[in-house]
Amino acid sequence: MEASDRLTQRCASCGEEHEIEFSHSVNVTRRPELREKIASGEYFVWECPHCGARNLIREPFLFHDEKERLMILLTEADVKSEGLPEGYTGRLVHSAGELVEKIKIFDAGLDDAAVELCKYITSREMKLDVPLRFVSAGGPDSEIIFTYPKESRMEMIATGFNVYEDCAGILRRNQDMVHATEGLACVDSNWLARFIA
Ligand SMILES: [Zn+2]
Repeated sequence: MEASDRLTQRCASCGEEHEIEFSHSVNVTRRPELREKIASGEYFVWECPHCGARNLIREPFLFHDEKERLMILLTEADVKSEGLPEGYTGRLVHSAGELVEKIKIFDAGLDDAAVELCKYITSREMKLDVPLRFVSAGGPDSEIIFTYPKESRMEMIATGFNVYEDCAGILRRNQDMVHATEGLACVDSNWLARFIA
C-alpha cells in the first residue's frame, strides 16, 4: 500500500492554503478503487473548501498498472529513461491531461504511437493548427474521436478507424519509430516530429 502525502496547496482563485492528501504513486491493480478517478482526471483536482474553486494538483505522479504491465510517469521535469521491469510499457507525460489521454488510449487497446501519427494526419487533413486529444475509439461507425480547443470550447472531430490502421501499418514498417517507444518514452507530437520531415 502506497502511503499518501499531505500537501499544502494554495487555491488559485481565493489564495487560501489548504492541506490535501495525495499519493504520488498508485498501483491501480492493488488499488482498483482509484483507477477511475485517475483515468477521469478527477484525482488531480481538489476543491477549495473556502470558495469552492476547483484546482489542479501539479505534482509528479506514477501510474502503475501491474496487470497491464504499464507505467506512466507524470512529471514536468526532464527524466532520463530508467530501467523498466521486464515486459513493461513505460511512458513519460508532462501533464495530467496527457496522462488521462494515455490511459484512454491503452484502455481502448490502441498503440499510442499510431494514435500520434493518426492525430498528425487528421489535423493536417482538417487544416487544424491545434493539438488534438484522443477521446475514444469504436462505436457503430468504427471511428476515432479526438477533441481540440476552439474559442475556449472543446470541439469534437471523428476520423475513420481505417486511418488508425494505416498508421499502425506505417509504424510496423518503421522499426526506428517502434524502438523509440521503448523504455520510459515520451510519445507525443515532439516524438513524432523526429520522424517526419
Ligand atoms: Zn479558494
